[in-house]
Amino acid sequence: MVYTSLISPDNQDFSYDIKIAHLYGDLMNTYGDNGNVLMLKYVAEKLGARVQVDIVSLEDGFDKDSYDIVFFGGGQDYEQTIVARDLPAKKEALENFINENGVVLAICGGFQLLGQYYIEASGRRIEGLGIMGHYTLNQTNNRYIGDIKIHNEEFNETYYGFENHQGRTFLSDDEKPLGKVVYGNGNNQEDGCEGVHYKNVFGSYFHGPILSRNANLAYRLVTTALKNKYGSDIELAAYEDILAQEIPEEYGDIKSKAEFE
Ligand code: GLN
Repeated sequence: MVYTSLISPDNQDFSYDIKIAHLYGDLMNTYGDNGNVLMLKYVAEKLGARVQVDIVSLEDGFDKDSYDIVFFGGGQDYEQTIVARDLPAKKEALENFINENGVVLAICGGFQLLGQYYIEASGRRIEGLGIMGHYTLNQTNNRYIGDIKIHNEEFNETYYGFENHQGRTFLSDDEKPLGKVVYGNGNNQEDGCEGVHYKNVFGSYFHGPILSRNANLAYRLVTTALKNKYGSDIELAAYEDILAQEIPEEYGDIKSKAEFE
């Protein structure tokens, strides 16, 4: 299904095209995660790309060559059970997309289902896609809920969010975290890791939605997708020129968000 409301306007000059697959967008969309798709579109258009978004849901084929970015949002355990039954049919194409360095953003339930398995709150095991090495255990009568801040050392970027999950995720040796926890619980409250970064897959427990609070990450995803498609030497507008945050005057002399922290 095409999101007709999310197609870029015809009356603008675009140099590029970006197609986004919103995996199970009608089932996996907790806590405003759909806002990530709006943010991808906003940033892509600022970078001169026309955007189309398709919901790819139960029984739909996923054609890896048709898409530049895949978004897989969060969901309740019940929806995850339904989605899990459909995943095997899409596994091969999604695995190839990821191995060919396709850009993926996966939040919470979507992040869990890219991995080996997820143990629901009730203790029942749901099989994941098994494309990535992480696995998710449950916890007794508890959820991790609250504000969270992480830092990604490789990119030297800080990300903010709000986490709400019962699952406790553990990464495999070939996976890096999206960031190290500054405050909050993160994947499991034990190892100081939050989310995952594997090839061009970015996974996280952040709602909020993550991209509207972290334009730096949105810029990273869209520019990576554009360079994958059009070549690494294309000239794209700098982050500072299109997305840097203007701080209201009442904050006095503070010039940037970084200075505010
Ligand atoms: N049901 C999963 C959990 O509780 C994922 C939640 C979500 O996607 N918000 O961990």
